[in-house]
Amino acid sequence: MSWDSEKLARYLGVSHPAVSPQPVERILFDSRQYSAGSPLVFFALRGPHHNGHHHIAELYRKGLRVFVVDDVWPSELEDAVFLPVQDSRAALQGLARRIREEIKPELVAVTGSNGKTVVKEWVYRLLPKSLKPYRSPKSYNSQIGVPLSLWAMPEDTRIGIFEAGISMPGEMANLQSILQPRGGIFTNIGSAHGENFVDDLQKIREKLSLFKEAEYLIYDADQEALHKEILRFADEHAIRLLSWSRQPDRAKAWLEIISQETDRTRFIFHGPQGDVQAEIPFSDAASVQNAVNALYQAMTLAAPKDFLIKALAQLNPIEMRLEMKEGHQNTLLINDAYNSDLESLRVALHFLTEHGKDRSKVLVLSDMLQSGLKPKALSKAMSEIISAAALEAVFAVGESLQKYPLEGVLPVHYFRDTDDFLRQMSAFSWQDKAILLKGSRPFAFERIDQQLARQRHETVMEIHLNRLVHNLNYYRGRLKEGTKLMVMVKAFAYGAGSEEVARVLAFHGVDYLAVAYADEGVALRKAGVALPIMVLNPESSALDSFFDYDLEPEIYSFKRLEEIAQLASQREQALKVHLKLETGMNRLGFQASEIPALQERLREHPQLQVVSMFSHLAASDDPQEQDFTRRQIRRFEEMSTRLQDNYPHPIMRHLANTGAIEAYPEAYYDMVRLGIGLYGVAPHPAEQAQLLPVAELKATVSQLKSIKEGESVGYGRAWRASHNTRIAIISIGYADGFSRSLSEGKGSVMINAKRYPIVGRVCMDMCMVEVGNDPVKEGDEVLIFGSELPIQAMAQAMNTIAYEVLTGISPRVKRVYFMA
Ligand SMILES: *Cc1c(COP(=O)(O)O)cnc(C)c1O
Repeated sequence: MSWDSEKLARYLGVSHPAVSPQPVERILFDSRQYSAGSPLVFFALRGPHHNGHHHIAELYRKGLRVFVVDDVWPSELEDAVFLPVQDSRAALQGLARRIREEIKPELVAVTGSNGKTVVKEWVYRLLPKSLKPYRSPKSYNSQIGVPLSLWAMPEDTRIGIFEAGISMPGEMANLQSILQPRGGIFTNIGSAHGENFVDDLQKIREKLSLFKEAEYLIYDADQEALHKEILRFADEHAIRLLSWSRQPDRAKAWLEIISQETDRTRFIFHGPQGDVQAEIPFSDAASVQNAVNALYQAMTLAAPKDFLIKALAQLNPIEMRLEMKEGHQNTLLINDAYNSDLESLRVALHFLTEHGKDRSKVLVLSDMLQSGLKPKALSKAMSEIISAAALEAVFAVGESLQKYPLEGVLPVHYFRDTDDFLRQMSAFSWQDKAILLKGSRPFAFERIDQQLARQRHETVMEIHLNRLVHNLNYYRGRLKEGTKLMVMVKAFAYGAGSEEVARVLAFHGVDYLAVAYADEGVALRKAGVALPIMVLNPESSALDSFFDYDLEPEIYSFKRLEEIAQLASQREQALKVHLKLETGMNRLGFQASEIPALQERLREHPQLQVVSMFSHLAASDDPQEQDFTRRQIRRFEEMSTRLQDNYPHPIMRHLANTGAIEAYPEAYYDMVRLGIGLYGVAPHPAEQAQLLPVAELKATVSQLKSIKEGESVGYGRAWRASHNTRIAIISIGYADGFSRSLSEGKGSVMINAKRYPIVGRVCMDMCMVEVGNDPVKEGDEVLIFGSELPIQAMAQAMNTIAYEVLTGISPRVKRVYFMA
């Protein structure tokens, strides 16, 4: 739809001020996501920790002119249009509802725990374009994402496929009223928290309410709990249940599997609309479930059978992720393998700017297929987005781009197709560049990725920054209004990579960072991180860097205090410092008895500006030690109050680490210090289900060996075969951080979703498992820890804690970053 502020006012049901209408194309609701280009309307939303209204002036300076606000707004900004509503969030949702009512697509909704995005995408691919399908972009499934998806829906859409997800009870009712689906799919209910059955039931019920006015519901009836709950739901609502099962006569449709190999499944789907015999290029249970759900939905929407059979065979995994890694010649390589559209181009360029920082940035871009725009308009839209991104060059691949060149973007090099680009790419210098690859699927940009990427080390640690943000928001949600957040990025950000993590944290507006040593802080400054940084161990040898790089030391002893004070006098520079108080850990810090002397010294050295007082809890993760922890909190209260008496202005106080954020709200004070929880490990097991593991450590099967009965494997002949079997040799050893203590069955790894214990001793660079006759191949991925294999299990087997496992992963293991 085309918009201006007047039409928007009409849709919102408010009056337009007496100024000329302003053009509007896109919606902005998060000021940090601002990017230049087509005209925006800003919805000023409020959350527990932010208020969009505070960013209006700044956005106005950047050129925004249309604002939807729910606060009184003194409209002194010239030619700006303010549309005052009761509640901006509700207004955005109401707008989305109106758009749906106007376009009137046949609306299909997808919900469930896992696979929503894949199923949505696959339903879309199983529908011929003549049915004019539209699907919500990426995983836009939230209270904000769903309205934005409706806003982006083309006017001629006939079938709309939307994903609906919730993070809090009560949200589904909202999504239901926005979407009012005619039918849809319930994918599954996560097994991850399966032990919490009551919780699961609640979740199922809440999610089912999406379909309370729907005509039909598609689901896999082999999931007992889900099946039961849906039957109950159908008792109360007039809904047709389109259930399916792998057994005949158990549900409305029968999935008859004919054969299954490692990378394909052949089946006949006997549905109410007839039989379809087809093949999909997968065999894992999740993909089969997703494909059948999508097929059933497409059949319900009357997709022709021959089309379905062809499209099923061509389904491929949905890579919704932005991948970032080091490439050859010190390049930074960002590969966005998701299908290419204007919105994802904008997001990816934003990511490039964020992480490319000081490097010169280039974009390799293919023709955009399926944008819905005429080639000329598309080229213009792309030009606008790209020219806003301060790139050094663009490499444009494809005939459409050649024919309708980008404007106002210089220089652009054109190539007919991907082969053409690959042939010529050595003529350009890639040294030190940040490179964004943004290609539509048929252009197979993964071939360019392979050229530019460094030889893939066989063992990588994937760092999922999107999950890190999820965890960050989880803990943020627990804080009280006004509590500040410091994040610990010491020890290479618990192994995840301090610079990358710090940039994401800066983007998401945390207040403080903390590192262990000055050089870690210096590295962050050099990487362009501007947040305040506290340094826990200010070594004497590095004191100058505190002044040169604006780092803030922890002061824990008189000796350190004097050294730093002296240097500050010499340099005639003030320095911000943090006082560490000893309350029970008995590590670093000033004792209660030292407070009078400390006060005196601080008075003598006004060049040291005390920013905060803090202490560290020794056992906030241990319910047995509650009394001790409470005593620590009391001691901190007393000591810090005494010190505070010295100052006319309040000094910030902080005490809580992750364990205390979870269990001791009384210890929040002015700021908390989040560590391990950010990386997805909950100190209190009850919280674990709320977090997502940030790191996934993966190796590969280097070789398979047949072993005869009685032969031994590895050093010390520690394992002997009791029968003829096969051994897989895996590309990870103790030099990578896979401890030797995991030898001889103590540790295990996962290949193709099956666990295998280690046989024999872990070597320096490899280890072995017995795979027998299982269909394991050389090159198969081996999961060491991650979502499916919790790091806590490995830590336990090593007789240690997840902290040590994470920080012990060797720097030689490449970190690869993902942002969904
Ligand atoms: C490491 C550290 C933290 C974070 O602890 P987690 O248990 O990882 O949350 C907090 N404060 C100090 C002083 C630390 O050294």
